[in-house]
Amino acid sequence: MTIRTVGIIGAGTMGNGIAQACAVAGLQAVMVDVAQAAVDKGVATVGGSLERLVKKDKLTAADKDAALARIKGSTNYEDLNGAQIVIEAATENEELKLRILKQVDSLVAPEVIIASNTSSISITKLAAATSRADRFIGMHFFNPVPMMALVEIIRGLATSDETHALVQQLAKDLGKTPITVKNAPGFVVNRILVPMINEAFFVLAEGLATPEDIDAGMKLGCNHPIGPLALADMIGLDVCLAVMEVYLREYGDSKYRPCPLLKEMCAAGRLGRKTGRGVYTY
Ligand code: NAD
Repeated sequence: MTIRTVGIIGAGTMGNGIAQACAVAGLQAVMVDVAQAAVDKGVATVGGSLERLVKKDKLTAADKDAALARIKGSTNYEDLNGAQIVIEAATENEELKLRILKQVDSLVAPEVIIASNTSSISITKLAAATSRADRFIGMHFFNPVPMMALVEIIRGLATSDETHALVQQLAKDLGKTPITVKNAPGFVVNRILVPMINEAFFVLAEGLATPEDIDAGMKLGCNHPIGPLALADMIGLDVCLAVMEVYLREYGDSKYRPCPLLKEMCAAGRLGRKTGRGVYTY
């Protein structure tokens, strides 16, 4: 099967980023959201992003127009028909995703691959909501999608080799580098990243160094582009805490115990950039 058209569910941060990556790579993208306003916002975001690339001489104006013309925004799931793969990138809510996936499964042809961009929900569980667990897979893009080179490809219990190979090729066609992961909470990147951030809070709580020195240490000593505490402020402290709680519950290993300081800061509403204050003040 050759993938020419990609269906995308959700026109938010990730959905419109995936649509942009597809369109720039020459694929047709059909992006579906619940409300016309969300669709329009998603398409406008892609337009703005492509315009910035033109200003930086990374894309010609003609290529921008051609890419935009390859994106069809819609509020009608029927428009997903004709796509060879549908990537679900709707709000991170298990009940909602299960409902969406059942609906897509009943709408699109049996050979169509269905993927989810979920960060935390079991791919095997989502696959079980469909009648095609062998043609279901995780495709975890990173934010901002047009800039970030990685795609984690997550194989559920029943994902077929053929589905895996097709999705691996799609990621490469989008200019990304895929890595393959078995289904488990956090996959690879977040499994390593979030406990590291949690550990930075322990170091801070123990008074071993100032926030600035902890971040400088990891930037200069490990070549990280941003320190773990500044990164926590970007991700949201509540998101980091929720992820640690999932690991603790799912793996049952006390090494995933959330740092009490992280919990305290969440309780105080200091969630990071989005609330104007986290580890740092904005
Ligand atoms: P978002 O809130 O920006 O966008 C979600 C979109 O889904 C919204 O536009 C919403 O209207 C739409 N939606 C809700 N219900 C829908 C339905 N029934 N049908 C169609 N669309 C519907 O969220 P996001 O940050 O783009 O996250 C989307 C997914 O990507 C989540 O599963 C998230 O865990 C995952 N993810 C997010 C990031 C990130 O950094 N934001 C990174 C990797 C993966």
